[in-house]
Amino acid sequence: MSQVATPEPDLETKVLPIEGMTCASCVAKVERALGQVAGVSSVSVSLPLLQAQIEGRALNSADLAAAVAEAGFRALEESPDDETGLLAREAAALARREGERQAAGRALAAALPLCLPLLVLAWSGLAGVSWPAWTGWLQAFLCTGVLWAGAPIYFAAARALGSWSATMDTLVALGTLAAFGASLVNLSMGQGGLHFAPAGMIVTLVLLGRALEANAQAETGAALRGLLTLRPEQARRLLEGGESEGPAEEEVPVSALRPGDLVRILPGASFPCDGVVTSGQSEVSSALLTGESMPAPVGPGDRVTTGTLNGSAALVVRATATGSATRLAEIARRVSAAQGSKSPATRLADRVAGVFVPAVLLLALLVATAWGLHSGREAALLAGVAVLVVACPCALGLATPTALVVGVGRAAAEGALVRDATALEALGQATHVLFDKTGTLTEGRFRVSGLDPTSAEREGPLLALAAALEAQSEHPIAAGILAARDERGLPNMAATEVQAQVGLGVEGKVVGKTVRVGRTSWLRDAGVELGQAEEPSLEPGETSVAVSRDQELLGWIRLADTPRPESREAVERLQALGLEVELLSGDRREVAEFLGAKWGITRVRAEVSPEQKLQVVEELEAEGARVVMVGDGLNDAPALARASVGVAMGQGADVAKASASLTLLRDDPRVVAAAIETARATRDTIRQNLAWAFGYNAITLPLASLKILHPAVAAGAMAMSSVIVVANSLRLRRRSKAKARPLAETQGQ
Ligand code: ADP
Ligand code: MG
Repeated sequence: MSQVATPEPDLETKVLPIEGMTCASCVAKVERALGQVAGVSSVSVSLPLLQAQIEGRALNSADLAAAVAEAGFRALEESPDDETGLLAREAAALARREGERQAAGRALAAALPLCLPLLVLAWSGLAGVSWPAWTGWLQAFLCTGVLWAGAPIYFAAARALGSWSATMDTLVALGTLAAFGASLVNLSMGQGGLHFAPAGMIVTLVLLGRALEANAQAETGAALRGLLTLRPEQARRLLEGGESEGPAEEEVPVSALRPGDLVRILPGASFPCDGVVTSGQSEVSSALLTGESMPAPVGPGDRVTTGTLNGSAALVVRATATGSATRLAEIARRVSAAQGSKSPATRLADRVAGVFVPAVLLLALLVATAWGLHSGREAALLAGVAVLVVACPCALGLATPTALVVGVGRAAAEGALVRDATALEALGQATHVLFDKTGTLTEGRFRVSGLDPTSAEREGPLLALAAALEAQSEHPIAAGILAARDERGLPNMAATEVQAQVGLGVEGKVVGKTVRVGRTSWLRDAGVELGQAEEPSLEPGETSVAVSRDQELLGWIRLADTPRPESREAVERLQALGLEVELLSGDRREVAEFLGAKWGITRVRAEVSPEQKLQVVEELEAEGARVVMVGDGLNDAPALARASVGVAMGQGADVAKASASLTLLRDDPRVVAAAIETARATRDTIRQNLAWAFGYNAITLPLASLKILHPAVAAGAMAMSSVIVVANSLRLRRRSKAKARPLAETQGQ
C-alpha cells in the first residue's frame, strides 16, 4: 500500500514569557499543560528565566497561551522574531523580573510597618507587659493589613485552586488563613489563642524572601545581558557617496541599518553590525564577546563582528549582517536557549518537586489530626501551619536551573557556547579528550614549503593541476595550494566533476584527464603507478600531498602549518584535570607523532579516516569512557556527532559546528579546559543546591511536625532557603573571574 506523503511542517521553537510562576510545582504544571497542546514535541519551562521553550510543528500561539491560562498562569505576548526580537525579549524578561522585585519591595514596605507593632503587641506579654483586651482587635486589624499587602499570594493560590492544583502560594495562603481565621474565632469568643502575629510574620517573611530572591535572580542573567548590551544603540551611517567626504553621515538607531550600508566606527566605539572594513587601519578587541584578550589588527577587507570594540583609529565598514542576523545575536540566542533547556537529570528533580506540594498538604493534614487528637485544637493549628509554611518547593525548583543559567553564562564568557543543559552535564563527566590535529591544535593555515616533482618538467603541472581541483575544496590545504599557484603566476585551469573524498583528498577532471590530490596511499589504491618514487622526507611540522594525472604520479607538494601556541598549555591543563588526551589525525604518521610529542600527547592515532575517527569514539564510549571530541572539519563531523560532547572550533566548517554540542567562540584549545572546569563547577553547584533543598525539607518538615519549630521561625527558614540556593548559584559566577585571569595573562606568550 502506498501512502501519499503530506509535507511535514518544519520543527520550530517558540519562547513564551510566562507570568505568575513561583515554584517548582508551577513549572511542572506549565510543562504538563503545554505538553498536551497539539504539535508540541518538547517543553522546557525555566523558573529563573520565567519562560517556556516549546519545540514542535505547526505551533499555534493562541492554543499555547490558552493552555497556560488553563493551568492558572499568564502567557505574555511572544516577541516577533524580527531583528530586535531577541533584544526585546531579554529586555522584557529583565523588566518583568525588575517589576516583580519592585512589587515585592512595595508589598514588603507596606507590610513591615504593620507587622512590627503587631509583634510588639503579641509578644511583649513574654516580657511581662500586659495590654488591654481591645488590643486583640487592634492585632486583628494590623494582621488584616499585612495579609492585604500579601494579596498577590492569595490571588495566586486562588488561581491555582481554580485549576485544581496547589503551589507554593497554596501552602502559604492556607497556613496564614488558618492561623488568621482561628484567631478571629478565638477573639470573638473572648478566648485566648491569638495567632495574628505568626500569620503576619509569615506573610512579611515570604515577601522579604521574594524581594531578595528576585534581586539575586536578576543577577543570574547578567552574562546574557552583558552580551546583549555589547551592541551600541546608535550608528553613524554614511550617506550616498559619503565615504570620501567626511561630514556626509547621519546618526541612526542600529535597527535602521541594512546590509550594504556603509558605517563609520569611531575609535573606542563598538561595531553596530557585522561587516567588512572598507577603509582605515585599527585594532579590534573581542574580549567581551569571546574572551580573547589580545586585540587583533584590522584593515580593508577584514571582517568585523557586532559588539567587538574598535581600537585607536576610525574605520568605515560595509555592513554584511545586521540586527538578528549578526553573529552576536546568534550567540545570544544560543546562550538563551541553552540556559532555558533541561537535562534528563534536571527533569528528574522537577518531577520530584512536582509532587512535593500535594505531599506537604497531606502531611500537614496528618500532623494536624494527630496533634488535635493528642492535645487539642491549638496544637493542631500550630503544628499544621508550621508544616505548611516550612516546606520550600521553591528551593527545589531553583536548585538546578539557576546554576545552569549562571554556568552556561560563565562558559560563554570564557568563549565556549554550549548547546544545552545535557551538553554541559556531559562535559562535566568527561574522561577523554580527543583532538583533531589540522585546524584544531594547528592553525590550519597551510603554505606550500616545497615541490617534489617526479621529474623536472612535471613541476609546473604538479601545482597548476592540483590548484585547479583545490579551487573547489574547503580543506585548509586547498588555500595554501591556491596561494602558491598565484604566487608563481601559474595558469588558472578549470576542473570539472570535482569530488572531495573526505579524509583522503580530491579528484576531478582537468582537460579530459583524471587528476587526484591527496594521500599517497589513496592514489596507490586508485591505481596510480608509484614506481620507484618515494614520499619526500619532511621537515618537522611539514606534511605532503601527492598529485597524479590519470595513472601518472606527478609528485608531491610539501606544506607547512603552524601549531597553535596555546596547544601545549591546553593539553597540560586537561591532563591536570585528570583527563586522558589523545590525538586523532588524518595526516601522515611522522607528522602526527612529531606534533603529538611536542604537545605532550602520548596517544597518537595517525592516518585515520573520518570513519575511523568515529570508530575510535565508539570504542572508547563502549568501554565506558565519556569522550569529548574536538575538531574543525568535515572529516570530524561524524565523530563530533557521536561523542558525548562534540566541540567545534569557531572558524571550523559549518558541518562541524552543526554536529557539535559545543562551539568555541575563539579558536583557542585552552577554552576546552576552561569549559570542562566550568561544567564541573556547575555540576558541583547543582549537587550542593539539591542537597541543600532536599536536606532542608527533610530536616525541617519532621521538626515542624513535632511542633519543635514555631510557625514564625518556620516561615523565616523557608524564606531564606530559596535565597540561599540562588546565592550559591551566583557564587559560580564569581569563581569564574578568578579562573579567567590566568587564561588571559598567558595569552600571547
Ligand atoms: P586532519 O584529520 O589532520 O584534519 P583530514 O582527515 O582532513 O586531516 O585529511 C587527511 C589527509 O587527507 C590530509 O592530510 C591530506 O593528505 C588528505 N586530504 C584531504 N583532503 C584533501 C584536499 N582537499 N587536498 C589534498 N589533500 C587532502
Ligand atoms: Mg581538521
